[in-house]
Amino acid sequence: MELKPGLSALITGGASGIGKALCLALAERGIFITVVDYSEEKGKQVAALAEKQIAKFHNNLKFPCATFIRCDVTNSEVSSAFAKHLATYGGLDICINNAGIGTPIPLHKDQTGGSAQWRRTVNVNLVAVIECTLLAIQVMKASKGSGVIINMGSSAGLYPLFADPSYSASKGGVVLFTRSLLPYKRQGIRVNVLCPEFVETDLVSNYSNIDLKFLTSIGGFIPMEMVIKGAMELIADETKAGSCLWITNRRGLEYWPTPVEESKYRIRSPKLEKRSMLTYPLDPKLPQSFEKIVVHTLNHNFRAATRILRTTLGLPIKRNHVLVKILHAGVNASDVNFSSGRYFSSKSGDLAANLPFDAGFEAVGIIAAVGDSVDSLKIGTPVAVMTFGSYAEFMTVPSKYILPVARPDPEVVAMLTSGLTASIALEKAAQMSSGKTVLVTAAAGGTGQFAVQLAKLAGNKVVATCGGSDKAMLLKKLGVDRVINYKEEDVKTVLKKEFPKGIDIIYESVGGEMFNMCLNALAVYGRLVVIGMISQYQGEHGWEPSNYPGLCEKLLAKSQTVAGFFLVQYSHLWQQHLDKLFDFYSSGKLKVNMDPRRFVGLRSVSDAVEYLHSGKSIGKVVVCIDPTFSQAISKM
Ligand code: NAP
Repeated sequence: MELKPGLSALITGGASGIGKALCLALAERGIFITVVDYSEEKGKQVAALAEKQIAKFHNNLKFPCATFIRCDVTNSEVSSAFAKHLATYGGLDICINNAGIGTPIPLHKDQTGGSAQWRRTVNVNLVAVIECTLLAIQVMKASKGSGVIINMGSSAGLYPLFADPSYSASKGGVVLFTRSLLPYKRQGIRVNVLCPEFVETDLVSNYSNIDLKFLTSIGGFIPMEMVIKGAMELIADETKAGSCLWITNRRGLEYWPTPVEESKYRIRSPKLEKRSMLTYPLDPKLPQSFEKIVVHTLNHNFRAATRILRTTLGLPIKRNHVLVKILHAGVNASDVNFSSGRYFSSKSGDLAANLPFDAGFEAVGIIAAVGDSVDSLKIGTPVAVMTFGSYAEFMTVPSKYILPVARPDPEVVAMLTSGLTASIALEKAAQMSSGKTVLVTAAAGGTGQFAVQLAKLAGNKVVATCGGSDKAMLLKKLGVDRVINYKEEDVKTVLKKEFPKGIDIIYESVGGEMFNMCLNALAVYGRLVVIGMISQYQGEHGWEPSNYPGLCEKLLAKSQTVAGFFLVQYSHLWQQHLDKLFDFYSSGKLKVNMDPRRFVGLRSVSDAVEYLHSGKSIGKVVVCIDPTFSQAISKM
């Protein structure tokens, strides 16, 4: 909502403190104001000050620019304040439910029963907020049909305030009440909650037992300007609904919980469940044979290592297996490690003993046939597979390895190896929380693009390296705070100069010199996660073991951790993280960038692998295995 003259706002508790500051800030923008408070003298003063400001924006009005209404928000008379506002200004654009009190006595000294002080706190801070939110929704719907409501929470609604448990309980209630109102966004009404830490107002100075040492440790009182900035952001930003904005001196303005944190507690919506049960029509006549890519000789040159083989479909399939018709297969840096036999172990040391084997790690498709004992999956169900052999037109997979997905789209392929690696590695190996500095290398690549966004969504500052201005532009769009295009800037110099305290978490997938630079840039207690070492996969003799002298000494001196991560070892978390990524993607929180170059059919797979290793790709590289069928499906 654009904050402009002519809008109108009602603010409860507007006679003093944060309420007064908000009234005057809105008045400075020419917005008509109703100040609701039980303190008549102060309320009238605020209305008079606001009137002077607002009048500068308007001529010859037949109504007052600012009105004061004396009212206790816990009384039913509060409804007449909303009615009067509507009658005066013809609608209500902004409602700020700000009136709040603290409990002046410790809980154990309070009474029980109707006249208890704690009860009054809960009535003013929570019950009246619910009532006023309801009244505001009614007025907004009855007039313009849209509006913004801000409920005043507090940091004490996010963590306990031992000095005033009832206050904490009431504000915690306001936070969850407001977050539960997200669905009103669809009706044009956005309700958000503001949670500042201590602001120097009458409410706070009424606490005799405020611990000054504690106050100093959290950076002192929050300046009123920060609270106003937060409120204005919640009003202006159309994407904010059911949002909780936490304001502290330590961390600034921060939305809580972060989407990554929230996803831990989110229950999958029945809508998503329903979508994932969709089935797609398939030609019931299956072919006698199909083509697939097999590795016939061990080589890090994928083209030289592989060939296309036609093989029989082998119906009926085994009892507990399903047949998947592959639509899109994902291309990965490590396709060349697989084709050189690195992912197999052999007691005899003879890796070639495994030849020939099927290539490809990941794909999406449709179930084309099910074995006799499979009852949880149906023909036509869209699924993802992450077992070897996905560079193929069809694949037979044990049903327990099937990952049901909402749609068999290329974006879902990107969420598999690339997305899951970022999501699980950042959670498990990096132990990522919020408020840290996170560095991602090869950040505009398949997995890098997910890592930067997930680190941002978790509330971190994100630094990213890439080679090229198009990639740098993409990373800026994805919200990266500092993009280092190594073709234009020296990574080492930038890190040293701009991050003198070091980087807390590093998601490193390039290896070689980049790994060394990252290690030197790691902060005390920092964690560097080895995701891969793409710069070494295609050396003259393939991938040779690296040597990092002094590694242990460096780690010891700074209590640092270098952690390895290999997605295969985390298969128990795939479905959960895939659902999370899909939720983020479908709610617009996560973007999936697909490389624009089209690769069609199994014969283009080697081109696609080489293209990924050329360093030119941006985002995820995917091969469309069956373009005709995929096109028909994408229209559904
Ligand atoms: P990708 O990032 O899409 O790979 C392409 C990007 O890597 C290029 O755009 C380039 O980025 C960089 N690059 C390519 N060749 C390079 C070279 N020779 N030297 C330096 N940089 C080079 O590929 P991906 O499939 O998502 O894989 C990225 C990394 O993650 C790989 O190391 C891969 O092995 C690893 N990975 C690991 C796991 C796991 O479980 N541990 C899972 C998936 C992927 P810039 O030039 O812009 O930096």
